[in-house]
Amino acid sequence: MNTDFFNPSFPEIRDSVQRLCACFPGSYWQALDRERTYPKEFVETLTRGGFLSVLIPEEFGGSGLGLVAATAILEEIHRSGCNGGACHAQMYTMGTILKHGSAAQKSSYLPKIASGKLRLQAFGVTEPSSGTDTTRIRTFARREGGHYIINGQKIWISRAEHSDLMVLLVRTTPREEVAKPSDGISVLLVDMRDAVGRGLTIRPIRTMLNHATTELFFDNLRVPAENLVGAEGNGFKYIVDGMNAERILIASECIGDGRFFIDRAVAYAKDRSVFDRPIGQNQGVQFPIARAYVQVTAAAEMVAKAAAMFEAGVPCGTEANMAKMLASEASWYAADICVQTHGGFGFAEEYDIERKFRETRLYQVAPISTNLILSHVATHRLGLPKSF
Ligand SMILES: Cc1cc2nc3c(=O)[nH]c(=O)nc-3n(C[C@H](O)[C@H](O)[C@H](O)COP(=O)(O)OP(=O)(O)OC[C@H]3O[C@@H](n4cnc5c(N)ncnc54)[C@H](O)[C@@H]3O)c2cc1C
Repeated sequence: MNTDFFNPSFPEIRDSVQRLCACFPGSYWQALDRERTYPKEFVETLTRGGFLSVLIPEEFGGSGLGLVAATAILEEIHRSGCNGGACHAQMYTMGTILKHGSAAQKSSYLPKIASGKLRLQAFGVTEPSSGTDTTRIRTFARREGGHYIINGQKIWISRAEHSDLMVLLVRTTPREEVAKPSDGISVLLVDMRDAVGRGLTIRPIRTMLNHATTELFFDNLRVPAENLVGAEGNGFKYIVDGMNAERILIASECIGDGRFFIDRAVAYAKDRSVFDRPIGQNQGVQFPIARAYVQVTAAAEMVAKAAAMFEAGVPCGTEANMAKMLASEASWYAADICVQTHGGFGFAEEYDIERKFRETRLYQVAPISTNLILSHVATHRLGLPKSF
């Protein structure tokens, strides 16, 4: 039975993504998960199919379809049981170059990113000592002639080992010397192929999910000054817009996860018979699945609204945050209910539910945690006093 009671956007794209994902079944992801290996073939297939370049305008070699198309792609990837976490950054990280880069940077990087010749999969913001308080980052880039010399450390930088370029957030003026804490922060484009072993060390971090995340150490890494994106000191502003796109896209992955869990729970509840009747005939089993469906459907509306606002160029920081919060909570509830519906089999690797359960949990913490979203809504939308 079709559990979609809505008119999905981009039905042809959704259909193509579903067909592509069918070539990457649970057994593929289970094997990678066991070894914590990167899904190289999956990412290459998506790249060849043009699915990762939908946000790049046609003049730079992408399809320029926009954010709503990107949400449809990621939602279908996740609904099928696959995981877009390995490649979603290739879609949106280039937004900083597209919106704030020079003409030379756009023409030299964007066509290669669109074709997949260059992988821009890494976005380096978080640091061990600053946490969510981004204005306290300490990684510092000192200008010396035609180069910046970078020293510092980043943590949780995903896909760094599988990326040719990284958008890196650094301080170029100490926090104590600027008028506003968000001033004096800059964006540099780091060519990982030159950097690793010449001032950049990457250390993988093993986590509860297969996410290729790492810690980065910068020790006098030299980056050409021409790799500065936009004006020095304005980088914080530049990344905020990219963060809205990231939140909306990750919210769409949560919607896909939620639908995956609901599809699986419904199918199992109909099929599994205990006490001489399908378990799904018991309202104690039905109602939580129905509740998950209600929550995912409502969250999907918020994601659609935020995506439409982003695409229209309307300020959508609060909506992007609300979409990410609602979708990540809905997918987590659906995950929990799916495990419960499956009883013991919810824990069996071959059912994929335990893997997706671990994967969807991330999104209440990254890329921004729920408390920080609530704080944003309380202070920016409701005008309550700031607590920090
Ligand atoms: C698998 C994984 C992949 C990641 N990938 C990337 C990446 O590619 N690039 C990147 O830059 N970062 C990445 N991150 C980092 C991620 O964005 C951060 O972990 C996240 O933003 C939370 O920051 P933190 O871990 O420093 O938590 P902290 O800031 O230390 O916060 C810890 C907890 O305290 C709460 N808290 C903190 N301050 C307050 C407050 N004032 N009021 C109420 N609650 C508060 C938070 O909500 C959170 O729950 C990744 C993280 C993970 C786990």
